[in-house]
Amino acid sequence: EEVEQRYRDRNAESWALLERASAVMPGGNTRSSLWSDPFPLYFVSGEGCRLKDADGHSYVDLLGEFTAGIFGHSSAVLKDAVSAAHANGINLSSHNTYEVRLAELLTARFPSMDLLRFCNSGTEANLMAVALAKIATSRERVVVFEKGYHGGLLTFGAASAKVNAPHKFEILPYDDVDAARALFAAKGAEIACVLVEPMQGAGGCRVGSRAFLAALRDLTAESGAVLIFDEVQTARMGEGGLQKRLGIIPDLTTIGKFFGGGLGFGCFGGRRGLMERLDPRRPDAISHAGTFNNNTLTMAAGIAAAEHYLTAEKLDALFDRGEALRSRLEALFADRKAPYTVTGLGSIMNIHGAAADHGDSARLLKLAHFALAERGYYFASRGLIALSLAVGDTEIDGFLNAMAAFLDESAAVFSSVDRSA
Ligand code: PLP
Repeated sequence: EEVEQRYRDRNAESWALLERASAVMPGGNTRSSLWSDPFPLYFVSGEGCRLKDADGHSYVDLLGEFTAGIFGHSSAVLKDAVSAAHANGINLSSHNTYEVRLAELLTARFPSMDLLRFCNSGTEANLMAVALAKIATSRERVVVFEKGYHGGLLTFGAASAKVNAPHKFEILPYDDVDAARALFAAKGAEIACVLVEPMQGAGGCRVGSRAFLAALRDLTAESGAVLIFDEVQTARMGEGGLQKRLGIIPDLTTIGKFFGGGLGFGCFGGRRGLMERLDPRRPDAISHAGTFNNNTLTMAAGIAAAEHYLTAEKLDALFDRGEALRSRLEALFADRKAPYTVTGLGSIMNIHGAAADHGDSARLLKLAHFALAERGYYFASRGLIALSLAVGDTEIDGFLNAMAAFLDESAAVFSSVDRSA
């Protein structure tokens, strides 16, 4: 409570903005995932890896727009690309040269993508991929995983499914090969597709084992179901996404976030035989339309992003930087015997409170989130860190020092935490 009061006093402008917003949006919110208790911060500007909030505080941005902001803020390269596209006229009512170039760049990098289609968000990409799989297989059942997140309309809570989309879902525990085998043994012939994140992002950065993902590949291949990798987050793990790193090639892949160069973007692509169902020249073509699917601003930003930032060298270096940060955090928590853990892969990771009681774990995380914000380091209140290319060694050392100072200061609090689970 004392910490919450400190937070309110420090962030009065953010609180005032939330009050204004609450008059016109439910809970003052238009993105449920941004809600945090007691209230979210409002940022007014960003440059490189730095953010400024409405009360004038400055932060190192360790959240990077939930992985979408991989470039750092206010990139001149992206600004020039968008400005040039704008100067050439937007809303052209036709196909355009940008979409051809971006499609060439993306199909060249993802092993699973012979053909692709653009849309406006990762959510939409997943909805279209599932629809395509159902039509192509003439089957109904869609396999997803507990704590999976495939967008605002495809969210799967732990025990009880929190589902907003009209599909016949089978919700399995994640990373459980036996459960997947059992379902396919019982209902394999009815399964249209398996939709899976190779690492669960919003689910807490839980990394799927290679054995699990390979089993899904085998089970879907044997039963004639479509394997869909949701690489909306994990596509940053290397030039060809996590699929290339793992050497497991799905039938369809969905991407989004950073491949739109900072603008709203989604894309699904895969095997020629499947994707050709969308060819308008076919008598049985599946329609997939969208006014902004090929909007020139996003297409141009996406090309600049792919060519200048999302190169094999830069993505590999970012992966390594993330691995190093995660192991240094692990070592720090172990050294201080602090009740925290960290999970993840490459540049995406999640800090968790590690108490026996779920409520205590949540309070520990909240404490760390506030304390690091006070020290000028911003990550998601749910513990997510997604490094951008703009975060350097200085910021990472500074963050670890700030974390160490917080852990030392809180040693007395931690000593009373029950960790016996
Ligand atoms: N899939 C995954 C794995 C995601 O993390 C997200 C967004 O966080 C989505 C899909 C949805 O993408 P969008 O927010 O662009 O709809």
